[in-house]
Amino acid sequence: MTRPPDSPGVGRRLGVDVGGTKCLGVVADDTDSVIAEFRRPTPRGLGSTAAVLNAVEDIVREAIETVGPVDSVGVGVPGLVSRAGVLRAAPNLDGIADLDVAGMLSDRLARSVIVDNDATCALVAEWSIGSGHGIDDLVLVTLGTGIGGGLVLGGDVRRGANGFAGEFGHMMVDPDGLPCPCGRRGCWERYASGSALGLFADEGGFAGGPEVLAAARSGDTAAVEIVDRFSSWVAVGLAGLANAVDPEVIVIGGGLVRDANVFFPGVERHFMTALYSADRRSLPELRLATLGERAGAIGAAMLGAAHGR
Ligand SMILES: [Zn+2]
Repeated sequence: MTRPPDSPGVGRRLGVDVGGTKCLGVVADDTDSVIAEFRRPTPRGLGSTAAVLNAVEDIVREAIETVGPVDSVGVGVPGLVSRAGVLRAAPNLDGIADLDVAGMLSDRLARSVIVDNDATCALVAEWSIGSGHGIDDLVLVTLGTGIGGGLVLGGDVRRGANGFAGEFGHMMVDPDGLPCPCGRRGCWERYASGSALGLFADEGGFAGGPEVLAAARSGDTAAVEIVDRFSSWVAVGLAGLANAVDPEVIVIGGGLVRDANVFFPGVERHFMTALYSADRRSLPELRLATLGERAGAIGAAMLGAAHGR
């Protein structure tokens, strides 16, 4: 549905990012600045399909009640999203599969809702107005509950044959490794996501990821070792991506970026040793995302403009 030419729009777009732990909505103005933010926990467990849609619907309704009408509604969801907005598989949403998110939300809200992969949304936002601005060969990796990602090559967002490009989290790094919610073993996100850090922390006697990061920050030797192990796993995947696509910049986003001062120096160090012929090439620059946890929601808000709505 294209807006009629005689309707100038209100200059506000709504984006919702469905994460593994929370749903975050932002209203952005016509300069892509966030003017309001709304959030709900992401429902888990039995019946979560309807509950996740309810959470997104609640955010959209609350946002419109609060700020007034919006020109478009975009939603980013984790997992394999078809170009028609159908969520084919979402291991980090209790295995939700083959859900027509775009169709169902459009029906519920009686308006067009555009749906895309959450990390692709974050990529577009960081590429447009964040730390990847102006970079023609860019990889984005989001470290959160899982690992997502996206690619800009030759100045274009690359979606792959089916729109599924950038599922870096399920690159297998150990065929006999830890089981993954996707049904396979040894996926990179089992070793280098927030969930992985939480598991390493538990094994080391810490209460969880935030606790081990705090302890490492204050110099606890055991915590520093756990975080270094985590950093080395992050670097393994980043080096693989750099070897595969030769980016100018790799942007690291997702919820873990908040604690980058603890783990990122280790990632940079291990990256140098994991990269093929590091001493004979110009090295990809590792940058932290600048839009923080809002990147996915801002990119979702941009979907409307990208689709001419
Ligand atoms: Zn997996």
